Amino acid sequence: MSRAHKEKEQEVRQYYRALYRAWGAQHWWPAETRFEVIAGAYLTQNTAWNNVELALANLRAANVLSVEGIRSVSQARLEHLIRPSGYFRQKAKRLKTFVSFLDTTYGGSLDHLFSRPTSQLREELLSLNGVGPETADSILLYAGNHPVFVVDAYTRRILDRHSILPAKADYEEIRALFEQALAPVAHKQPAKVAAQLASAIHGAAHPPSAMSTAARMPLAQVYNEMHGLIVGVGKNYCRKTKAACEECPLRPFLPAP
Ligand code: SF4
Repeated sequence: MSRAHKEKEQEVRQYYRALYRAWGAQHWWPAETRFEVIAGAYLTQNTAWNNVELALANLRAANVLSVEGIRSVSQARLEHLIRPSGYFRQKAKRLKTFVSFLDTTYGGSLDHLFSRPTSQLREELLSLNGVGPETADSILLYAGNHPVFVVDAYTRRILDRHSILPAKADYEEIRALFEQALAPVAHKQPAKVAAQLASAIHGAAHPPSAMSTAARMPLAQVYNEMHGLIVGVGKNYCRKTKAACEECPLRPFLPAP
């Protein structure tokens, strides 16, 4: 491993520590059940989270926010219910495809699905229609508590602006960087990180939920927190058109112009 790569890892670790010190636990993903996380991971593609919440509320009110519910609801009704999330025909088909895959391969059991080895399950999810790396990893990490880091557009923007990796870097290269960088954090501070609950909402934090407070291995907890913290930076400071560096907790790490 080159020294430059080690330095990048060190820097990512420093980002984690600085952000966690500033904002604490982020309580991702906001959901009461594993299937709610999965549905949210599909619905959030190409839309804002507010729209996803409307679609999820419709599914909940119709009592179909579950494997059984999606299996039994008609395609047309499902499209109607998730309409607020946009691309509703495509997303309805994809949710149906997921449940069909679950039924065919795992007898409809999420327990069975998530008991598979991470790499095997990741490949299977990536083979489904409409599941790219970000959706697959969101499902693995936030629904299944598998230790994989979720790379999103905010992650790319921050790495690019800090001259760590270009915005167009390969997804797997970014994922590997974060996973290698954060592994020692989980190793050193498992109890503290896993047990700490937020007393206030900072960054991109959500109120504690059944899924956010579920027991998980320290590595998955650290990846969970780091993704939430990165979203907080992206939403509040590192915006696409204008970066508000002066107030950002990552300002001390910004390279000199
Ligand atoms: S807002 Fe500025 S300091 Fe913060 S992450 Fe973006 S580029 Fe870095």
